[in-house]
Order: sequence, then structure tokens, then C-alpha cells
Amino acid sequence: MKYVSTRGNAAPVSGAEAIIAGIAPDGGLYLPESWPQFALVEQEGLCHQNYARLAKEILVRFFPEWPDEALEQAVAAAYDPKRWSSPEIVPLRSLDTGLHVMELWHGPTSAFKDLALQLLPHLLVNSLRVVGDKRDVVILVATSGDTGKAALEGFRDVPGTRIMVFYPENGVSAIQRLQMVTQEGNNTRVVAVQGNFDDAQTGVKKIFTDPAWLRLLEEHNLTFSSANSINWGRLVPQIVYNFSAYFALVRSGKLAMGEKVNFVVPTGNFGNILAAYLARGMGLPVHRLICASNRNKVLTDLFRTGVYDRRREFYTTNSPSMDILISSNLERLLFLLSGKNPEMVRGWMADLQEKGYYTLDATTRERLTEVFWGGWADEESTLAAIRQAYREFGYVMDTHTAVGLKVYRDYLRESGDKHHTILAATANPFKFNRAVATAVLPPEKLQTQDEFLLLRELAAATGLSVPEGLRGLDSRPVRHNTVVAPDRMGAAVADWLGLK
Ligand SMILES: *Cc1c(COP(=O)(O)O)cnc(C)c1O
Repeated sequence: MKYVSTRGNAAPVSGAEAIIAGIAPDGGLYLPESWPQFALVEQEGLCHQNYARLAKEILVRFFPEWPDEALEQAVAAAYDPKRWSSPEIVPLRSLDTGLHVMELWHGPTSAFKDLALQLLPHLLVNSLRVVGDKRDVVILVATSGDTGKAALEGFRDVPGTRIMVFYPENGVSAIQRLQMVTQEGNNTRVVAVQGNFDDAQTGVKKIFTDPAWLRLLEEHNLTFSSANSINWGRLVPQIVYNFSAYFALVRSGKLAMGEKVNFVVPTGNFGNILAAYLARGMGLPVHRLICASNRNKVLTDLFRTGVYDRRREFYTTNSPSMDILISSNLERLLFLLSGKNPEMVRGWMADLQEKGYYTLDATTRERLTEVFWGGWADEESTLAAIRQAYREFGYVMDTHTAVGLKVYRDYLRESGDKHHTILAATANPFKFNRAVATAVLPPEKLQTQDEFLLLRELAAATGLSVPEGLRGLDSRPVRHNTVVAPDRMGAAVADWLGLK
């Protein structure tokens, strides 16, 4: 199977090459030339497989030329129940008759990113083997908080790889920050950027496509790759849980095989919701995809007006992993909606870069709103949604998931849609303990500045236990304390690699 760039100025490559490269040389993103299809009879067969098995069946369709046992080993290692706090990997919990939560946060770093980043290192190492590439890989990551830690855990001490993570200095939660700066491993480095996530992401993309950098790496027998969702190897694993959640609902007897469902996805870089759209393209019975944003609601506005406009204030919110104004993976969706027209994509992306906005044509816009519905939640209504879910269902959710719940309620009010709906729970509530505690604990408990006391208070009040990866973070030594300006990110990479 061949992969093509959304911008049409790069030669088609194999799946392995797409994963190694991360981003296409023309600045575009890779997508497969055609979509594997799962007919309903096949889905009936897959419905009772465990998570690792299902992942393998989906992966093999995208990487048909890979040795079978390599895929078997990769999924067995990544989805080993010993590494997850639920044997199902992604358990589904029904809150009421029509609303079901797929819990994507049972991995080692407590956010949905683990589902892809526990697997990606195996896919990458295997890709290098398949193409006979002997170079060491340098992974650069820009993170709004969760990708960074998940990627560090996935790649730590993986032979032949080094990983460097850039996070916005003031744009992550206290727990997220501690998770990253205490990272262990011989091949890891974490750097704070004096800017927001978009600054970090733009800086990383610039380094990736800078010919001088590429030459320098070449000379040292190194190559860059990405663990961000611009990398195709991040997206394929994310397709899997949309199927697995659907199958869990069928197995529960609440849904008939073939009946359509909605997915609600708290969205930032558009990777998670794109994976749901891709699953739909492969035959998963999906009615609507509901895209939930926080106050940085550039996507909501796109769905309502047809204009993507990043010329606006950037807000730091209580759902920091969605504080993003440039949603990279939207480019993949636009490519597909435009009928795979790279000229149109190039035009939009050039407008975005030069003018700060672009306007969709009527046809693309119509195709977009046929499937997607967008809404947003401010910080107050996010906390209100946490409180409400706790009161009504006794269910504790994190701020990102709560943005999804609030937007789902708005959607129901507007549409009256009766389809079963699956809400993506993207992080463990303890990861955003302060905001969650603000929603569910009495005010006097919030006085403390001690994040770990707050974790314990939250656990005591809700009866939930603090995830293993977050316990004891306060006693681990800080191993990373470099801070750089956005225009010094390249220098930080050079410094770390010893390439000055
Ligand atoms: C990354 C992240 C999101 C946003 O996902 P995208 O794929 O970037 O749209 C939402 N919630 C949490 C907790 C995240 O870590």
C-alpha cells in the first residue's frame, strides 16, 4: 500500500517510509492511497476479539507487506494488560441509556495518547527494519501536555532512538509538568518553550523541513521523526478504539450490529476525531462526529462559518491539551473532503500561513457539515459539566472529557438526535486534579497549594485511586530544567545532539 502527501509535491512512499519520515518533504501529511474496508460480516467476526487482536487485524490492512509476527509482537507488547489499568484496555461505561464513555486513559501516563504511543515505537523500529535503514532516529515532539509524557514513556531506552520534547512553559498542568521534568531514560530530553503550543509545534515543523538541518543529520547518520499526530503511525492505532468501543456496545446488547452511533471527541490537533472519521471511512457505522472545543474554538467557528481563522487571542484554559489554534490534522480531512485535491489543500495552507485564515468552498463545506458538528465550552461550563456528571451519574471525568459532555448536551438540544453516542474520555481526572477538585470538592479543600494533597483529597472524596504513574511524582528528582525562547529550539536540539 502506498501513502501520498496531502500537498501533492512528494513522491508516494510505503507505510514504513511514511512512519519514519513523520511529515512529507513538501510539508504535507501522509495518507494511504486507498481505504481498507471492513464489511459488516467481517465486523461481526471481529466483535469478539480482544484489543490486541483487533489492533492487529486493522494494522495488517495498512501495512500488508510487513511480516505477520512483527505485528503480532508489536500489539502484544503495546497492549499487554499488565501495562494498563483495565484488562479491556479501553473499557466502555454507560452513563445513561444513550450515552456511553470510552475510557481512553488506562495507559501508563493516564491520557489517550498512550494508545498510540505505546505502539508507535514498535511500528517505527519495525519500519526501519523493513526498509533496511540503519540510522538512529531523533524524535522531536511538541506537546500541549499529554503527548510529551506518553511519547517519552513509549520511547525511553528504545535502542536506536532519542527523543526530545518541547512543552509550553506556562501551558501545562502542574501534574503534567512534573510527569515530564522527572522523566527517566538515557535517550530522553525535555525542554520548556517560552511560548504556547502553536509556537512549539511551528518550531518543530520548521526544524523537520529545514534543508540545512536535514543535511546535518544525514552527515551524522541520523534522521528525524515525529511522535505527534502528524505521523501516520500515531493515527492508525487510534482507529482501533473506535471499532473496539462500538463492538463493546454491541456485546452489551444495547446496540444492534450495523446500527449507527455518534462519537463526541474533545479536540485539539484534530488527530483523535480524524481517527474516528477514518474508521467511518472503513465501514464503521457512524452517524455524526461531534467535535468539542474549549475557548480556543477555531474549529467550532469553521463548522459554523466555513472560515478557519487563527487571528484571535490564544487562551490558556483548564483543558490545556486542547489549547491549540492550528489543528494540524484538519489538513488530512480537507484533503479527503476536497476529493483528494492537493492544489486546494496547498491553497488553504498557504492562506493560513500568509493571511492567517482560509475560506472553504461551498462543496467542501457541505461535505464537512454533513458528518461533523462543532460546539465549545468555556471554563465555567466545563466545571459545571464535571459537577453534573458526578451528581447525576456518580462519574468523575476530567476537564477535556467534560468539554465533550457539555457540547454533547448542546448537540442533543439542537438536533434531538436519538442515536447512541460514545464520548471519548481522553484523560484520567487525576491528571487535572485542581480543576476537577474545584468542581467536586467543597471550597475549603481547595486552599492548599500542595498538588499531591489535592490528589489524595480527590481520591478520598470520590473513592477512586490515584493512578500509579502519578503517585510519588513529588519525590522523584527533576532531571530536566532547560527553558528556551521559540527561536532557540533549533539550538537546543543541536546542543543536545552535540552537533554544534
Ligand atoms: C491530546 C488531547 C486532546 C486532543 O486530542 P487531539 O487528537 O489533539 O485532537 C484532548 N484531550 C486530552 C486529554 C489530550 O491529551
